[in-house]
Amino acid sequence: MASDQFRQVEPGWPFFVASVKPLIFRPIAGLFHYDYDPMPDYPQIFLNAKRSHALDGFHPWILDRSVIDPTLPLPPGTIVDCLLPSGASLGRGIYNPNSRIRIRLYQKTLAEDLDEAWLLRQLERACNLRNFWMSRNHNLDALRLVNSEGDGLSGVIIDRFGDCVVIQLTAYALLPWLDLIADWIESKFAPQAIFLRIDAATAKQEGLESKDELLRGIPPTGPLQIVENSVKLAIDLSASQKTGYYLDQRANRAAAARWIEAGPLLDVCCYVGGFSLAARQWTPATEITAVDSSLRALEGAERNLQLNGFPAIDFVQADCFDYLEHLVSENAQFQTVILDPPRMASHRGQVAAAIRAYHRLNLNAVRILSPGGLLVTCSCSGRVSREDFAGLLGAVSRKTKRRLQILESRSADFDHPVDTTCLESEYLKCLICRVE
Ligand code: SAH
Repeated sequence: MASDQFRQVEPGWPFFVASVKPLIFRPIAGLFHYDYDPMPDYPQIFLNAKRSHALDGFHPWILDRSVIDPTLPLPPGTIVDCLLPSGASLGRGIYNPNSRIRIRLYQKTLAEDLDEAWLLRQLERACNLRNFWMSRNHNLDALRLVNSEGDGLSGVIIDRFGDCVVIQLTAYALLPWLDLIADWIESKFAPQAIFLRIDAATAKQEGLESKDELLRGIPPTGPLQIVENSVKLAIDLSASQKTGYYLDQRANRAAAARWIEAGPLLDVCCYVGGFSLAARQWTPATEITAVDSSLRALEGAERNLQLNGFPAIDFVQADCFDYLEHLVSENAQFQTVILDPPRMASHRGQVAAAIRAYHRLNLNAVRILSPGGLLVTCSCSGRVSREDFAGLLGAVSRKTKRRLQILESRSADFDHPVDTTCLESEYLKCLICRVE
């Protein structure tokens, strides 16, 4: 597939200039390391060594500014070899002229092919990791099978919910292999249905069409039932956020429950009730108030409450900022506050505003916490670092003159592995704190 694509490409002048450049370096670079191939199987892309983010350890995203000639006339999905001006290879990846992430790097050497066998190997590897964990712990009927960069498959997320599987593409790169991915899922799990999701933001960034559709099989007639931390959850794949449910918080819901004492609990941004229901199942928390701006999410949460036959929860449809301010003005007091707001920063320019927003939420949460209360505070903004997030809690502590102790500093659950070359993908922070 790749070599056919290469033959279709008209190299043009920019490509010629970029190709000639390393020839000049050949006599010197060749003494050390030299991977330039005058008859390559794949187009060779030359990277700007100084600006190449990828140089700092094979980062899987090579941005447009790191490519010497970003106007190369290569169609999206073209397999390319990445070379430094010296001729040394950086690895093999997939090109997308429509994305700021111009190349997604999948191989660290040019020795291995980027073909169907490679893709199947990666999928198997990801699946074996989950099976290994489950063989040592317990079986799960809902889990993330493939976590994009974390499993060496940048741009592909695959979540399994019982008999249904959701593929979420966050990049164009592996779209041409969608059928192969779906075949693999069918042969491995024989699911009732496979869904495809491409959200509007990805579609815009990657030059794609957004999608939310049934890819294969028969859609379930109603919500699917899964079990998490011994809590039953009905997941409606036809009306859900992300792939259907926030599987990343599974272990954090259980961890928070280990600290929750008797007394009133506030669950802010509750979605379909993950934290509240774990609290109902495992803790002596008394009155629970759960807030979300989405009516659909709250209907799902109410359905989940009924499914488990738990005592009532007060579900409130409100904006999290306004509602917390309202509670402060009412002098409300809670023993536990859980904050799990949506992503606040999707690019660097939004980080400062995101930190201010987190500060405001956490400040008001601390104001309504009883002495000795528990704050479970989360951030799913990859751009906001763990240090900055913990730092803003320090600012809240200074402002309220109350000591905040971090009891646990947690991330996403085991089925969301993080690749050390792409630490930005470790987006989730969940800090469990005691507030004096
Ligand atoms: N805590 C949840 C996941 C939360 S995801 C769990 O354990 O599964 C973030 C949630 O915030 C979503 O349900 C979304 O509907 C909600 N949300 C987004 N903006 C909001 C706002 N301004 N106020 C309140 N809720 C909001």
